Amino acid sequence: MAAEEQPAPTGETTSFDDLNLHPTLKKGIREMGYASPTPIQTHAIPPALTGRDLIGTAQTGTGKTAAFLLPILERLLSGGRGRIRALVLTPTRELAGQAEGFLVALGRHTGVRGAAVYGGVGMGEQERALRGGAEIIVATPGRLLDHMSRGYVHLENVEIAVLDEADRMLDMGFLPDVRRILAELPRRRQTLLFSATMPPEIVRLAQEFLREPKTVQVGSTAAAAVGVSHLALPVPTHRKSALLREVLRDETMTSVLVFTRTKHRADRLFRDLERDGISAGIIHGDRSQSQRTRALEGFRAGRIRVLVATDLASRGIDVEGVSHVINFDIPAEADIYIHRVGRTARAERRGDAYSFVSREEEDDFHRIEQRLGLSIPRSTLPGFDYSAPAPPRDLGIAARGGRGGRPGGYPRRGPGPRPHSRGPARSGPPRYRRR
Ligand code: AMP
Repeated sequence: MAAEEQPAPTGETTSFDDLNLHPTLKKGIREMGYASPTPIQTHAIPPALTGRDLIGTAQTGTGKTAAFLLPILERLLSGGRGRIRALVLTPTRELAGQAEGFLVALGRHTGVRGAAVYGGVGMGEQERALRGGAEIIVATPGRLLDHMSRGYVHLENVEIAVLDEADRMLDMGFLPDVRRILAELPRRRQTLLFSATMPPEIVRLAQEFLREPKTVQVGSTAAAAVGVSHLALPVPTHRKSALLREVLRDETMTSVLVFTRTKHRADRLFRDLERDGISAGIIHGDRSQSQRTRALEGFRAGRIRVLVATDLASRGIDVEGVSHVINFDIPAEADIYIHRVGRTARAERRGDAYSFVSREEEDDFHRIEQRLGLSIPRSTLPGFDYSAPAPPRDLGIAARGGRGGRPGGYPRRGPGPRPHSRGPARSGPPRYRRR
C-alpha cells in the first residue's frame, strides 16, 4: 500500500463551490444548511471524486458522512440507474439509519435512491428496496448477509464501497462478515474507509481491501472532539446515580447523554431517573428497534432530556446540540471515550464531558488522560454527600473489580483524585449546589 500522507488541515475554509459538485447536490447541501465544508469534507471529497481509494481519519462528528455521500451521489448522477452501485457498511443500525437520512436529504434533487438495511426490523421492506433498484445501500453487515443468502442481492455492479467506522467494525467482530461481503463486489471498484482511530488492524484491513489509498487525516486521532470541555468527578460507584441526579439540577444541562458500562446498569439508572421525575430514555442492545428509535427520536426532539446508553449506541447517535456527555462508567479504552465525547460538540459546536470516576476506574481513566495528552481537572460537587453508605439494593452493581466503592472514606483520602478542582475546565467545574 502506498498511502499518501497529508498534513492535517489548519481549519481553512473552502466553499462548497470549490468542490465541483453538481448543482442538484449543491441545492441539497444548501437546504441542509451547510454553509461551508468541514475539514474532512474539504480534504476527502476532491480525491474521492477522482475515483481514488481513500482512508479518512477524522474525529467523530466532523461531517464524515457527507464526506463520503457527496462523492457517491456525484458519481451516481451519471451512469445507469436501477441497480446497486454503491454500498456503505456501518457497524450499527442507528448509524445506517442516519446515513440513509443524510442520503435522502443531500440527494433529494438527484433522483438517486438509497435504502438502509439493518437488523431488528422486518426484512420485507428491505427486500423490496434491494430488489427494486435502489442505487445506494447503507447496511449493517449481518443483515445484509441475511438478504444475500436469499439470493436477490446483486452486488456485481457496485462501483463504490464505503467502510464507515471501520475501527468499530473490528471491535464488534464484524471482520469475517465484511470480508464475505466485499468478496462479492467487483475487484475494480473504489473503496473509501473511514475510521476515527487508526489501530494497526485497520491499516492491515486497508491493505487488504484498498488500492494505493490516499490518506486524509483531520486532527489528531487521539484528540477528542474539538470544543469539548472535560471534567472528572471522583465518586464511589454506589453514589454515582445520586450524583447524576444532583448534577442534573443544573438546568443548563438540556440534552444529556449518559453512558453506562452494561445494559443492566443502564436499566437501573434509567429507573432511578424516572423515579426522580427526570425525563429520560434508554437505548441499548436489548431494547427493541422500535424502542430504540422512539428513545432517540424523543431525545432529538427535546422531549427526553437524559438519554441513557451503552456503548453499542454511542456510534449511532447524532443529535444536534447534545449539551453534555456523562461517562457514568469509565470505558476501558481511550477510543471508546473519544467516541462517546464525540457525541457532544458535533460539527464544531461546544459541549461538556463529565466523567464519574470511581476508585476502581482510576487506572483506566489515567490511561485515557495519557492517550488524550490531557490532565483532566477533578472536581467535587459542593454539598453532595459522597460518603453516604450504599443502600442495600446497590450492593449488587459493583464497578469493574470492586464492590460498590468504599463507603465512608472516598474521595477525601488516598492517592486518587483530589477532592477539589485542580484547575478549571474550559467551561469551569459545575457549580451546582443543593437547593
Ligand atoms: P457526521 O460526522 O457525519 O456524523 O456529522 C456530524 C454532524 O455534522 C451532522 O449533524 C451533520 O449534519 C453535520 N454536518 C456535516 N457536514 C456539515 C457542514 N458542512 N456544515 C455543517 N454541519 C455539517
